[in-house]
Amino acid sequence: MHAPALAVAPPPADPSVAALLAARPHLSMHAHDGLMLEGVALNAIADALGTPVWAYGAGTLRRRLAALQGALAGLAGVHYAVKANDHLAVLRVLAAGGAGADVVSGGELARALRAGIAPSRIVFSGVGKTTEEIRAALAAGIAQINVESAAELDMISALAAELGRTVLVALRVNPDVDAGTHAKITTGLAENKFGIPYDEAAALYARAAALPFLRPVGLALHIGSQIVTLAPYRAAFARAATLVRDLRAAGLVVSRLDCGGGLGIGYRDEPGASPDAFAGALRAAFGAMDVELMVEPGRWLVGPAGVLLASVLLTKADGRIAVLDAAMTELVRPAMYEAWHAVVPLSPVRATEPVAPVDLVGPVCETADTFARARMLPPLRAGDRVALLDAGAYGAVMSSTYNARPLAPIALIDGARWATVRPRQAIEELWRQESVPDFLD
Ligand SMILES: *Cc1c(COP(=O)(O)O)cnc(C)c1O
Repeated sequence: MHAPALAVAPPPADPSVAALLAARPHLSMHAHDGLMLEGVALNAIADALGTPVWAYGAGTLRRRLAALQGALAGLAGVHYAVKANDHLAVLRVLAAGGAGADVVSGGELARALRAGIAPSRIVFSGVGKTTEEIRAALAAGIAQINVESAAELDMISALAAELGRTVLVALRVNPDVDAGTHAKITTGLAENKFGIPYDEAAALYARAAALPFLRPVGLALHIGSQIVTLAPYRAAFARAATLVRDLRAAGLVVSRLDCGGGLGIGYRDEPGASPDAFAGALRAAFGAMDVELMVEPGRWLVGPAGVLLASVLLTKADGRIAVLDAAMTELVRPAMYEAWHAVVPLSPVRATEPVAPVDLVGPVCETADTFARARMLPPLRAGDRVALLDAGAYGAVMSSTYNARPLAPIALIDGARWATVRPRQAIEELWRQESVPDFLD
């Protein structure tokens, strides 16, 4: 007898609804009211605001921030990366919990200030800042600007001289480390556009120290996003520590290290990054260095705190395709990063029925507008509602109005209460700033 041909391993089974909820303590299935976020029935929000609609849990935001701060106590301060979710209410919750902000544009700077975050708690990162954005940062008197190139250093120096004000800067160094994450969210490889090449950083630091209106205070790193193992952090931290020693040996002052964000979460059934393990890596690399440490997590703080609710518009191909009323215009991550998002029916009955593979797609005229392929789910019928989980980070912030789809509303849950914190955009808003010139009449 011949040995059987090598079988192709079947794809790993999708986690059951029960397993998904067990790993997410903020979510539960109520026997009558269905899926709940922090004890509030998501059906109530969908009834009131329609679908698609976002729901965020303030308690989850607070709990995650406190867990991270607990692990980093006495070690590092948390500057929330605003770009993951820049809603004013989200910023307010995190700021009230003691987080500062990491912003990457003048718009995010304005949002952080508007949400009441003190300028002294704001750090400005970003690979291409305009003179207007740098002026705004200097006018606000923020804590630090993370400089990403020699050209930007000269720009900031000139603007600081104009204002006659000393500006604290950190140099964002590209450590040339592979974060082992999706190529579109890897930022710490030499080939990426981010940061100052490692080998040029020391000379640039010395040049900055010699400029009259700049005070280099340290280094910044950010190697990528959705990182779930420690090895890339350890490698990047080791390179940063070496650079700090070299700079100090050259007589330069290094008092701050901004260690970036990137902490990953469990989207499926993989474990997310552990704050304690991350803290251990920070302590091992920098614990004896006498530097002020900060970290800039975005996704880890807000990702699990948000869900996107959608309704099934119709099914086709004998139920093998379900068309939702949510689309890539709301949640682009599956289309852009091949991201896997858990999908859970809101109905307690549906959630327990036998599963079969179904493609979940949106109505936008793009094949990429697909949330999940061959997902093992209970049979879905028109009108059924589902929640796309872990959508609080890089969800609503990446929305577009493509196909003239108005922005979806947002609800914020806090305790037993919830509030609409953004209404559904009115259709007329889509063209409110457009005009048709007279010469077309
Ligand atoms: C995007 C970004 C972050 C946050 O990344 P997460 O993966 O969401 O933690 C932190 N720092 C900088 C400079 C960034 O660009």
